[in-house]
Amino acid sequence: MSRPLQACVDLAAIQHNYRLARACAGGARALAVIKANAYGHGAVAVARALVAEAAAFGVACVEEALELRESGIHTPILLLEGPFETAELELVDQVGLMTVVHDARQLDWVLGARPQQPLSVWLKIDTGMHRLGLTPEDGRAAYARLAACPHVGELVLMTHFARADEADPGPTDRQLADFATLAGSIPTVRPATREVARSLANSAAILTRPDTHAEWVRPGIMLYGLDPLDHPHPHAALLRPALCFVSELTAVRELAAGEAIGYGGRFVCERPTRVGVVATGYADGYPRHAPDGTPVAVNGQLTRLIGRVSMDMLMVDLSEQPQAQPGDPVELWGTQVSANAVAAASGTISYELLTGLSRRVPLRYVEAASD
Ligand SMILES: *Cc1c(COP(=O)(O)O)cnc(C)c1O
Repeated sequence: MSRPLQACVDLAAIQHNYRLARACAGGARALAVIKANAYGHGAVAVARALVAEAAAFGVACVEEALELRESGIHTPILLLEGPFETAELELVDQVGLMTVVHDARQLDWVLGARPQQPLSVWLKIDTGMHRLGLTPEDGRAAYARLAACPHVGELVLMTHFARADEADPGPTDRQLADFATLAGSIPTVRPATREVARSLANSAAILTRPDTHAEWVRPGIMLYGLDPLDHPHPHAALLRPALCFVSELTAVRELAAGEAIGYGGRFVCERPTRVGVVATGYADGYPRHAPDGTPVAVNGQLTRLIGRVSMDMLMVDLSEQPQAQPGDPVELWGTQVSANAVAAASGTISYELLTGLSRRVPLRYVEAASD
């Protein structure tokens, strides 16, 4: 590989973060969310790293589930959005997936299916996110129909939080209260169903809201070591970032005061400035909207982006590093510069940066010695 850039993924960090989710969530089982190619970290490698401990995996579609099955992963897998068409239920049955049911259409598909083995269904209730899910009233009726259906096996009642990352607990309190009312009102329809299994918590709620942990939690971003919260929390401080997006300086130059850098001349040197060119650009997934001042680490030392990000390159200020030269290591984000800091500067979130790394960035797995 000649162009110097890669994403180094520390699988031991992902294992550490999964164990942290488990520890935060007490006795709850943890479904590891590895949709979108494990938030850009490589779904198969992440699944293999967690296969010995993960109770289940969560993916967005059957294609993602099949990739795991074809790689020999036999762990239960949940389709987080359920089937997109009725034919997908045959595949759900064949390869043994669990499925979400979030509306009346999917409910009809599931009730009308003729599977070889009982279907595991996660019934999604909308308690305030207003994206997917049945109303609590419709959910109660749907739960009763699913519980009475002979080809439905395990049944989990789930909801998703819209604002668990915020310091104000109010919105999550309200979602939790509505969910608890519903869960409490569901009669135990079948003798085998002793209690209603529930799943509410995403990463933010796992870290901060023990009252939401119930029987199943669903950690996503925290597995990859990124803090989803908009406020400090001691649990979040224990996360270990798993991915380092790294490159190198490919050129170093000195510019005089008054010279402008890059497209549009956005950055103008206030004084004679040593400038480094980095072999990474927006076509690799670095945000083009990153402003001057966005943190970048060169030789392990924090500096700043200067000038507009180009397709294949970006520029950094080396004023404080007179010894820096082509070939020196650059971290765009990872352990020295948090993806959260780059995201915040660029008006986005770490989720978008991680899932936006392009195919041009090779993933390399470091089997760091486990802690
Ligand atoms: C993606 C997803 C999660 C994980 O959310 P994080 O904020 O990444 O922890 C949990 N539940 C559902 C239904 C999801 O779609």
